Amino acid sequence: AHTLRLVLGDQLNPLHPWFEQVDDEVVYVLMEVRQETDYVRHHAQKVLAILAAMRDFARHLREAGHRVRYVALDDPSNRQTLPDNLAALMQAYSASCFEYQAPDEWRLDAQLKHWCAAQPHACSMVSSAHFYTEREDLATQFKGRQRWLMEAFYRRMRQQHGVLLDAQGQPEGGRWNFDPENRKPWPGHPAPPADSRPSHDHSALWQTVVQAGVATFGEPQAESLRWPLNRAEALAQLQAFVTHTLPHFGDYEDAMSSQSPRLFHSLLSFALNTKMLNPREVVQAAEAAYRSGAAPLAATEGFIRQVLGWREYVRGIYWAHMPGYEQRNALGHHAPLPAWFWTGQTQMRCLRTAIVQSLETAYAHHIQRLMVIGNFCLLAGIHPAAVHQWYLGVYIDAFEWVELPNTVGMSQFADGGLLATKPYVASAAYIHRMSDYCQGCAYQRQARTGDLACPFNALYWDFFERHRERFAHNPRLSMVLRQLEKFEPQERAAISERAAWLRGQVDEL
Ligand code: FAD
Repeated sequence: AHTLRLVLGDQLNPLHPWFEQVDDEVVYVLMEVRQETDYVRHHAQKVLAILAAMRDFARHLREAGHRVRYVALDDPSNRQTLPDNLAALMQAYSASCFEYQAPDEWRLDAQLKHWCAAQPHACSMVSSAHFYTEREDLATQFKGRQRWLMEAFYRRMRQQHGVLLDAQGQPEGGRWNFDPENRKPWPGHPAPPADSRPSHDHSALWQTVVQAGVATFGEPQAESLRWPLNRAEALAQLQAFVTHTLPHFGDYEDAMSSQSPRLFHSLLSFALNTKMLNPREVVQAAEAAYRSGAAPLAATEGFIRQVLGWREYVRGIYWAHMPGYEQRNALGHHAPLPAWFWTGQTQMRCLRTAIVQSLETAYAHHIQRLMVIGNFCLLAGIHPAAVHQWYLGVYIDAFEWVELPNTVGMSQFADGGLLATKPYVASAAYIHRMSDYCQGCAYQRQARTGDLACPFNALYWDFFERHRERFAHNPRLSMVLRQLEKFEPQERAAISERAAWLRGQVDEL
């Protein structure tokens, strides 16, 4: 009797315990299904990279001696959903047993549970053997608490896993948090590292995607796809990052530049989220660089905080609050997404740069996502679900378990402050301080009102005007609210008027 084992497109981990032994009774199934290409409109590179990496993974498994059934997008037998294909394959292989790795998305978790419940044969879910934490660990740690502080979770993770601790078990360097050191603008030097990622020609695969009629957006770059598509390539990228880039990661973690889309970020999220890389080996590589003197502590801590802290933390938030989290809208924002989110054609230079870059490369770094694009959406009162749909499609690393808490929680404050202690909003002054985007912009960064005033300014002050009562008791916002109170009543009225006009004109900005 055969066992069918399903490998999802973000479970491309050749080190999973499943693959330790070759067993002819086990058939590994990978499938390219319209269900997955169509649940949201994806960036072309995201569809291409996932399918190409799946194909590479299937090849790898076959070479290692495993039995593999690969259902391609245009395979005539493909029924285009997981349950329909599984039903057909269970029969075709006379399988009596079905196994799958825990999916990271609630959508797939529910679908597979539902399907399994209706099967006559044995079904079981095993761990994906990827994360440090279990789905429910975060909820257990914070049970009964109103605030689920990332910092508290992260410190516990450092202790539990012995990361960046000294001989006494204290944090290396005497502090847990080096954020204050990691907020410098980039002055134009040191030069960001050369792009060491591989380049693949996937134009044939792109033809298949187009012919199937999959609707995508953004540049496919099919002839030179720049993402790592297997573990060996992902490891090479990790090595290059730790050697050349990590030393400057901290200093310029929050900086933005039109000269360099990536600056000193790692570009590792796709490899991590598809599980080609394990977070432990990423954290260990960074810590080893610090121990050998190759990277400073602040940079290493800042980087490890993202992987050991934020990444595991948002996953815990996701599983604690799904389903339903995708519908949160605590601030009651309802405006549609501006049309230029699909073209980048706006006169605001910061947004144009960040969105055009996203459409061309399927990538933007954290501060572009949070403090330019997300900041604008929150200030302009865009519906958080519309913002979520866009983010879920546009980035190479976008999978709902990590995208949703970042967008709805951190960026749009739509969970009412569960994840973020204050809304991440800023006016032109912040964007100017951290980037070169304001240079040559059609708008005036210092003006709050007037036809050419940077839209971020009036929208920023008006955001606090509109939500004053909600934030009145938030100590992290008392300074901003005091400043607002100091404006003359006429100024406040002019700001509100300008903001209302901007919100009515969003497509034209
Ligand atoms: P680096 O800056 O080099 O960081 C290293 C790694 O840390 C990343 O690869 C990632 O795995 C992890 N990491 C960093 N920040 C976060 C974070 N806030 N949450 C979780 N993990 C983090 N990340 C995704 O992986 N998928 C998403 O769909 C996604 N959507 C986002 C949406 C919004 C609105 C915001 C504000 C952030 C989002 N992030 C998302 C988090 C973060 O922006 C990306 O992980 C990061 O930009 C990926 O680029 P990098 O690999 O160069 O990251």
